[in-house]
Amino acid sequence: MGKLLVIQGDITTQEVDAIVNAANNSLLGGGGVDGAIHRAAGPQLLHECRTLGGCQTGEAKVTRGYNLPAQWVIHTVGPIWRGGAYNEDQLLASCYRNSLAQAIQLGVKTIAFPSISTGIYSFPVQQAARIAIREFAHFLDRDQTIAEISMVAFDANTFGHYKQEAERAGLLREDPPIGKN
Ligand code: ADP
Repeated sequence: MGKLLVIQGDITTQEVDAIVNAANNSLLGGGGVDGAIHRAAGPQLLHECRTLGGCQTGEAKVTRGYNLPAQWVIHTVGPIWRGGAYNEDQLLASCYRNSLAQAIQLGVKTIAFPSISTGIYSFPVQQAARIAIREFAHFLDRDQTIAEISMVAFDANTFGHYKQEAERAGLLREDPPIGKN
């Protein structure tokens, strides 16, 4: 079974096979993590994105990573938070599920996710963390191909929420202490 890492950092520097982008419906770039990924990947990323015809909320599309350490970028579009009665939970879960399905198609072994929808799209972070971790747990239970999922939080508050939810789900296995018996 693959493992989950929860880390605080910048997703654009992760040395993994694929990173996930929290994009918008146009796939033509934006602020937040989307802007950071486009800056780090270089202008060829936008060129390829222009050929994709946008992306529906909850779905995911693939490009190459260009100047990123990651070979692939999986672009998914999270829901904009509108109070919780507009299918936001299900759409967010679909982002994680469809991104992981794309990763399987690509044959990637390592993948990094940002905290989808909790920035400009205002999804409450604790609720988003619970949904993400539930999807990771469900996926890791069944999948044999992905060795490592990294959940990359940019700020300490986001990191704390994902770590707490992962611990609650029993997904963070501590390595045994060295030199003790
Ligand atoms: P959304 O529009 O889906 O809410 P945002 O990019 O506004 O997407 O925010 C999603 C999360 O990504 C936020 O927690 C934000 O702080 C974080 N973020 C911004 N830049 C980076 C980065 N370089 N690496 C990882 N996470 C980032």
